Amino acid sequence: MKKHYFLGSAANYKGRLWAHTFAVGLEKDRGALQRFLSQKYSGEAILTKNGRSALALALKAYFEPGDAVIVNGFTCYAVYEAVKAAGLVPIWADINKENLNFDIESLKHIVEDKIKGIIIQNSLGNSVDITAIEKFAKRHNLTIIEDLAHCVGVKYTDGRETGTVGTAAALSFGKDKSIDTISGGAVILRHPCKSAIKAPSKLPKVSDTLRARFYPLLGTISRGLSYVHLGGIWMRCLVKIHWVEKSADNKLDLERKIAKFEAKLALKQLKELKKSGEAPIREFCLVRDRAEVLKKLQTKGYYFGGFWYERPVSPERYYKKVHFPEDKCPVATEVAKKIINLPTYYNKKDLEPACKIIAEYMEGEK
Ligand SMILES: *Cc1c(COP(=O)(O)O)cnc(C)c1O
Repeated sequence: MKKHYFLGSAANYKGRLWAHTFAVGLEKDRGALQRFLSQKYSGEAILTKNGRSALALALKAYFEPGDAVIVNGFTCYAVYEAVKAAGLVPIWADINKENLNFDIESLKHIVEDKIKGIIIQNSLGNSVDITAIEKFAKRHNLTIIEDLAHCVGVKYTDGRETGTVGTAAALSFGKDKSIDTISGGAVILRHPCKSAIKAPSKLPKVSDTLRARFYPLLGTISRGLSYVHLGGIWMRCLVKIHWVEKSADNKLDLERKIAKFEAKLALKQLKELKKSGEAPIREFCLVRDRAEVLKKLQTKGYYFGGFWYERPVSPERYYKKVHFPEDKCPVATEVAKKIINLPTYYNKKDLEPACKIIAEYMEGEK
């Protein structure tokens, strides 16, 4: 039987499926994770339900409602949700095609008085030019918030680690993030807050915890069913009956704690990452005619979908709500139409035939 390769459907859970499904977490695991993060990033760590809640807490801690913050014009709806939840106005900055981040060139055009902060994303693990951004922030008196969803463990070009530069850092432990326990997050407040922040005190919902626990198993079954072309239907049914939740639908909630088993697994992954020193990078290429490339890839058994990002603010179904200024961010708008990501968890040899197909359509930009 021909082998199938996936981007998504919990394909990165191969080899740790049972360890996830049957993980037993205790109250002390939350404490241990919190201490680890407080120490690693030198600040006060607060554990949250997901990454967007963590980011919202960071923004609430250091900004006033009505303030504007610069946001990478190539991101996910979760970030927009966090900005809105804190009562802030997003100012979208266009990206470059090399690292998918804003840079000094694109920031030059958007300085306004009410801008008080800047959220650094380090897209797909590619870091921004931190020296230049820091200088820019200082000149305009902007508070730096680092969003580490893509880049835990990544080093900036000056040698500092992501999350050790800004006033606060937000982590996500969501599906396919650099630390992936299906959901969960944390914020580290590294300076005295402007407004008092309350740590979440409610227990996680049982339904959310069950979904997070069983998603890798249900995803594995989906991959198996793809051999008889039923993987897609299976996943759609699970979404319909709410056994699986699409990442973008995970609710922002400042009151709920992280699940205990997620805290335990997140700490384990953070320690592994520290030991190996290998920060995950989600490789990307820009192609013409992505639909055709995907079709060709499928005939060879490569099921690549759910790219980061298919819209400048993804996913499609929330994009209209954002009122994204496409005219001001032409590069992000173009990249969203052309990007393809490679999965991080197959070896180069397995991906060779896929890379060959992709190369035929590549633009030579990356
Ligand atoms: C996924 C993501 C988040 C937040 O993720 P949650 O799904 O809320 O855990 C924040 N920032 C970026 C850039 C992301 O991709």
